[in-house]
Amino acid sequence: MKTIFQKIMDGEIPSEIVYRDGVCFAIKDINPQAPVHILLIPAKPIARLAEAKEEDAEILSHLMLAAPKIAKEQGLEGGFRVVINNGLIAGETVPHLHIHILGGRQMAWPPG
Ligand code: 5GP
Repeated sequence: MKTIFQKIMDGEIPSEIVYRDGVCFAIKDINPQAPVHILLIPAKPIARLAEAKEEDAEILSHLMLAAPKIAKEQGLEGGFRVVINNGLIAGETVPHLHIHILGGRQMAWPPG
């Protein structure tokens, strides 16, 4: 069964796609927690960071290098936060790995 993010990737569920390459794509979060809130998602449906395998190393590095490019495209030159929620206790709700890219306001620490 496809994850919700695979359905978005395949155009079965509408979403504003702001970036796409052969490895990953990025969409605007439907429930933004900051003025800019992007989800960066690998095409491969790795369930969560803890499920990533050695063979996924190139995908993970690709995501990490794509994140600052997308942040810059979104006007976040002044700074941004990346977040991965891994597991229910961390607030994960979609079991398809995704990196939150948040910015456009002053961030607090520690996070909630
Ligand atoms: P998580 O809680 O798993 O770290 O993050 C899942 C994120 O996906 C949430 O921020 C939620 O708002 C977002 N989300 C869930 N369903 C959809 C959807 O159908 N479209 C978009 N654009 N975002 C979604």
